[in-house]
Amino acid sequence: MGVSDIAEFASAIGATGPVWIRGAGTRVVGPANVRAVESPRGIRFFEPEEMTVTCGAGTCLSELDEILDDRGQYANLGQLRHPHGTVGGALASGWNDQLRLGRGPVRDSLLEVHVVTGRGDVVKGGGPTVKNVSGFDLCRLMVGSHGRLGAIAEVTLRTRPKPRASAWLVVDSVDGSRIEELVGHLYRPSAILWNGLVCWICVEGHPSDIEIARTELRRRGFASQESASGPDLGALPHRWSVSPRAVFEHVGERVGQVIAEVGVGVLHGDQPPPTPIIDAAVENIHRRLKDSFDPEHRLNPGAGDILIR
Ligand SMILES: Cc1cc2nc3c(=O)[nH]c(=O)nc-3n(C[C@H](O)[C@H](O)[C@H](O)COP(=O)(O)OP(=O)(O)OC[C@H]3O[C@@H](n4cnc5c(N)ncnc54)[C@H](O)[C@@H]3O)c2cc1C
Repeated sequence: MGVSDIAEFASAIGATGPVWIRGAGTRVVGPANVRAVESPRGIRFFEPEEMTVTCGAGTCLSELDEILDDRGQYANLGQLRHPHGTVGGALASGWNDQLRLGRGPVRDSLLEVHVVTGRGDVVKGGGPTVKNVSGFDLCRLMVGSHGRLGAIAEVTLRTRPKPRASAWLVVDSVDGSRIEELVGHLYRPSAILWNGLVCWICVEGHPSDIEIARTELRRRGFASQESASGPDLGALPHRWSVSPRAVFEHVGERVGQVIAEVGVGVLHGDQPPPTPIIDAAVENIHRRLKDSFDPEHRLNPGAGDILIR
């Protein structure tokens, strides 16, 4: 791989006509009548001491996981995603998992990106080191853009040490009057999920961190049980964001029907959200960004709302 591969990818995308950027197709496939192009694949550099890895966006997630795992590291691209998915697909989807509270959002893992715009130009954003962003933050903009703003060619990701231990603790009978007290006594949990009655807490780190969390809960009068995993969020097909403070009120109104990611502000429910979530001003910004990155609207037509498997 290298510049030539990025250049080849850019030339395959070209500057005219609709084009679909193909990942592994685990979630979304493009329209049959649109030309599909695949991103470069393969790991270019892994620098465990620097905690960075550079790879083609078409690299399979399981290949990346395997290489990082050998050195006790991982890249935060969502832990429940399809193993055969690609790095580019994970970034373009920007699908955060339930450990976002502790691990941060997927967008924070992207340090540097090379993208091909709708004009066929190759643009680089960010830098290969942590805290190197100045000016316009192109990296974050690409995450969750569903390939509508640019085709991701190559990325540098920050890696992290794998936690030595992790556990899910489940606490029953946590109603609206007790949840804030419980949350206040947890030290850096990786997830706090709450449905108005039951609270699932993920703690990661050193084995002693888990024991400390368990002891602290007991001391505050919260009996916890260990569970192999958190709740099955796959059973709740709708999700939407509210302010982190507002989750308590939302769950209070729909006890047992929604599960909130406390501290993050994401709600998962079996019904769609009650009010529209994108206001006109935000939509306007989206339109202007699309027009400037892809003036002819040729990249990934309809992505984000079509052919969901
Ligand atoms: C509708 C949807 C639902 C999802 N649901 C879940 C879920 O329930 N749980 C979960 O953990 N994860 C979920 N994800 C995330 C997804 O599982 C992972 O991101 C997965 O790894 C996708 O990889 P893929 O290569 O198969 O992507 P694909 O399914 O092939 O593509 C996903 C999108 O990314 C675009 N894309 C792919 N590569 C690039 C690139 N190089 N540059 C720009 N755009 C690109 C594609 O055009 C497409 O629009 C969901 C994603 C989507 C889009």
